[in-house]
Amino acid sequence: MAKTCAFKAEIRQMLDLVIHSLYSKKEIFLRELISNASDAIDRAKYLALTDATIAPEGPTWEIHLLADAQAHTLTIEDNGLGMNATEMEEALGTIAKSGSKAFAEALKKGEEPNIPELIGKFGVGFYAAFMVADGVTVESLRRGKDQQPARWSSTGDGEYTMDVGTRTQPGTSITLHLRADQEQFTDEWVLRDLVHRYSDFIAYPILLKEIGEKNNHEETNTVNDDKPLNTMIALWKRPKAEVKPEEYEAFYQQTLHGSGEPLLTLHIAAEGALEYRALLFIPKTVGMEMLMPGNRHGLSLYVRNVFIGNEIEALTPAWLRFLKGVVDSSDLPLNVSREILQDDVIIRKIRTDLTRRVLKALAEMAKDKPEDFETFSIALGDFLKEGYHSDWENKEKILDLLRFRNLKDGKLLSLRAYKEAMPQEQKAIYMLSADTLQAAQQSPCLEQLKAHGFDVLFLTTPVDQFIAGEFSEYDKTPIVFADKGDLGLTKEAEKKQLEASEKEYKPLTEAIAKQLEKTIKDVRLTTRLTDSPCCLVQDPAALSPAMRRMMEAVGQPVPEDRQILEINPDHPLIKSLAADSEESHKKDVIDLIYGQACLAEGTLPPDPAHFNQVVNRLLK
Ligand code: ADP
Ligand code: MG
Repeated sequence: MAKTCAFKAEIRQMLDLVIHSLYSKKEIFLRELISNASDAIDRAKYLALTDATIAPEGPTWEIHLLADAQAHTLTIEDNGLGMNATEMEEALGTIAKSGSKAFAEALKKGEEPNIPELIGKFGVGFYAAFMVADGVTVESLRRGKDQQPARWSSTGDGEYTMDVGTRTQPGTSITLHLRADQEQFTDEWVLRDLVHRYSDFIAYPILLKEIGEKNNHEETNTVNDDKPLNTMIALWKRPKAEVKPEEYEAFYQQTLHGSGEPLLTLHIAAEGALEYRALLFIPKTVGMEMLMPGNRHGLSLYVRNVFIGNEIEALTPAWLRFLKGVVDSSDLPLNVSREILQDDVIIRKIRTDLTRRVLKALAEMAKDKPEDFETFSIALGDFLKEGYHSDWENKEKILDLLRFRNLKDGKLLSLRAYKEAMPQEQKAIYMLSADTLQAAQQSPCLEQLKAHGFDVLFLTTPVDQFIAGEFSEYDKTPIVFADKGDLGLTKEAEKKQLEASEKEYKPLTEAIAKQLEKTIKDVRLTTRLTDSPCCLVQDPAALSPAMRRMMEAVGQPVPEDRQILEINPDHPLIKSLAADSEESHKKDVIDLIYGQACLAEGTLPPDPAHFNQVVNRLLK
């Protein structure tokens, strides 16, 4: 016959697991105990609304840290709800029993309004104290009528002792007898740092009292009694309409260590199917830390005001790493240690929503505050371009936000603005890749376009080179690179003339092809040029020279696609070259014009020493 049994748990080992294996950092014990204190105050405040005996004295709700370096103890004290002996045994004598969760659930059943958002729910956080302490004493006095103080103490090895307590004020104090190697937790600066990191937005003041400081002969010494260690202002939790611009700015500077004013502040309160809050800032300048693609330090994740982490890769796509700010959600499925997010469906949804909102805000900025958007494009435009390359979901939206310097006036233009300014006879959007703006402006490949009065957009940053290959059309208009293939501008009559010239120039083109056969792919006559004798163009499928140089610089293998030398049959130099009958002189001139074509696109001639010799010979 089948029978159902309960699992047996070896309590001692279970406790051992919680203490030694759950958390990767010992310091989080403080986060857990402060969170418990905050929950206890929340609960007291809530009950006081309907029960006058809970807080008749109208207390100032506070959390105190008492560090005693001489006694090697750290005490975390609150004037929250407290526990009586029964509650203590329930809450602290049972692993994985959460009084906070039971409280919240009891309230939910009754559909009570304004249930406080409690932090605790797993019922194990308290035991983190044993990571740093070999003895923990809890003294508590429950708020309300006819309560007796109680004491709970344990060395964390499977047993605890209950006793009559000594507390006279309602609330709880938890005293940790620090292990010999954990004495840093009585140090003022260690405590300040930990509170700042994990508990800065706990809604009650956390005050530090240091007692019996080292090297101090006075009996007690109390420091910084009046100024809380935490800032308490979880600005993102407040209604948008109530937050003043200077408050945002102060938060950006003081809490997030941003410099100056932020370029854009985005306060998100998502409601409905996906609930989260976020306060995001776009800075005006690039910080060094943002340049690292592995860096995700821009955003910190909080769950119910408690810091969870700032290296949450899934929170934003990498290209948004310039954002600074916080994201807070009550719904996130934290695991027991609050370290790793067990299931990232919600995180993924937040990421999609955040990205969408940032893109929308940027589009609005581009429309309503063009100067701000120009600042953004100059400082952070490369991140957007990286996004264009990597963020498939948002490619189209990002494309509209990209800006490129143009030929006509060196301004930053969007593809849309460029297209709208195109004269009617212009059928394509022209672009050119180059190392610098100057090199782009002076490229011989632009001569025919300049003669037509057409504008050109330049790709000049390393990130530009990366995405150049991805541009083929915009809003049904083809995108043509000025140094690739046919520009589609040659008239029928000109084509005829070119064909006629081809016969005439055949001996010359053949001679050039033979002489340069190791370096170029082909030689042909062109209408692309008006002032220069020749230029180098790429196969439509080939890498741009700028991209090629970038890949070489970082030691990447570069595919061997050779360029095409285009010559201008109307140029006097080409004409005289065709007529040149002195073989060695002709050879030198061919090497010279080829070398110049290389220089014009920013590359060195393949054999610079030889090029110099040729120039010197010709100068003689
Ligand atoms: P959790 O916070 O997830 O509920 P903990 O192990 O941190 O789990 O705490 C267990 C329970 O002990 C809490 O739910 C609460 O009922 C009780 N408790 C802990 N600290 C305090 C405190 N400072 N004041 C009142 N009750 C507390
Ligand atoms: Mg807790």
